[in-house]
Amino acid sequence: MTPAGGTRPGGGARPAPDCDALVIGAGPAGLTAALYLARYRRRVRVLHDGRSRALGAPMAWNVPGFPEGISGAELVARLAEQGERYGAIIERARVERLARIPESNLFEAVLADGGCYRVRGLILATGVVTNEAMLAEGEHDEAVRTGALRYCPICDGFEHRGRRIAVLGSDLHGAAEAMFLKQYSDDVTLIPKWRVALTSGQRAELAASDVRIEERQLLRLAHRGGRIEVVLAGVAEPLIFDTLYPALGSEPRSELLAGLGLDGDANRCLPADAFAEPLMPGVYGAGDVLAGLDQISTATGQGAAAATRLHNWLREGEGHAMADQR
Ligand SMILES: Cc1cc2nc3c(=O)[nH]c(=O)nc-3n(C[C@H](O)[C@H](O)[C@H](O)COP(=O)(O)OP(=O)(O)OC[C@H]3O[C@@H](n4cnc5c(N)ncnc54)[C@H](O)[C@@H]3O)c2cc1C
Repeated sequence: MTPAGGTRPGGGARPAPDCDALVIGAGPAGLTAALYLARYRRRVRVLHDGRSRALGAPMAWNVPGFPEGISGAELVARLAEQGERYGAIIERARVERLARIPESNLFEAVLADGGCYRVRGLILATGVVTNEAMLAEGEHDEAVRTGALRYCPICDGFEHRGRRIAVLGSDLHGAAEAMFLKQYSDDVTLIPKWRVALTSGQRAELAASDVRIEERQLLRLAHRGGRIEVVLAGVAEPLIFDTLYPALGSEPRSELLAGLGLDGDANRCLPADAFAEPLMPGVYGAGDVLAGLDQISTATGQGAAAATRLHNWLREGEGHAMADQR
């Protein structure tokens, strides 16, 4: 992958398209899209600001084809190498703004350093930002590394079966995640970040599933000896959990839509089918930034599909496509 700051000399807008396709995002979705586009013999460039969530996954055990598991960082590095082998250019640069260039069939991507690329098609694979649990400086990443702090029960609930699990969250999202984790452990406690915001019906459902609700106010979380300490108001000894799952949601990185005159959904996500149905002619999406399941395997699948749709749309413009080629 091109090292940090590898932007082109000169900056400034260019008159002709710099490439056929610009992929924004170098996570599993964007890098898979780039691999496919490069193998379709498209001039493809990937821009990223180094914030793939996959880089924070110490080990993923549910990526098809990796029975021993693979770290997110290694997967990203392998995908980048695979795309570059076929000519994809991967560059570290933050995209500040996208726009359609009037009276041309091109899009413009303006970078944070003032540079700009003009391209024929776009794939937005910009991911989401996780709302993190508040732990003291340095403790957060260490807790993720030891497995005491996890963010995705779908990803690794299996690895925590039989353990003492806490879910941090005050609302229905937290309650649903706690119920989901009962598949893996009999010992699940919901710890509200603020106060419990559940209806009596939702409380009854949790009780029926033997999920405890902690009613005392949360004061502090700490990582000690590979476990999570939960300090509560009025309690001398902290509660100790093997694993804490914050259920605090995430923020889609969909702000680039605005420059194209587009909006996200109520949660600011791109539509779930944006890998197949263009957001506008020549613009597709893939991965976590779409509504739906945030997983590596869905991100790679959507990246492949978006790349294929974009390639065929470009071919159509070149007069080379048949109607049923997807
Ligand atoms: C701790 C943790 C563990 C996880 N474990 C697993 C697991 O075991 N299995 C699993 O399937 N999933 C796991 N996930 C989820 C997985 O990481 C995501 O589903 C996956 O990374 C989504 O890929 P993506 O390409 O859509 O987004 P990301 O990987 O987040 O990539 C987004 C890309 O967009 C770039 N970007 C965004 N905006 C801009 C901009 N304006 N300019 C330039 N670049 C931009 C970022 O720099 C980044 O390169 C885990 C997540 C976390 C946080």
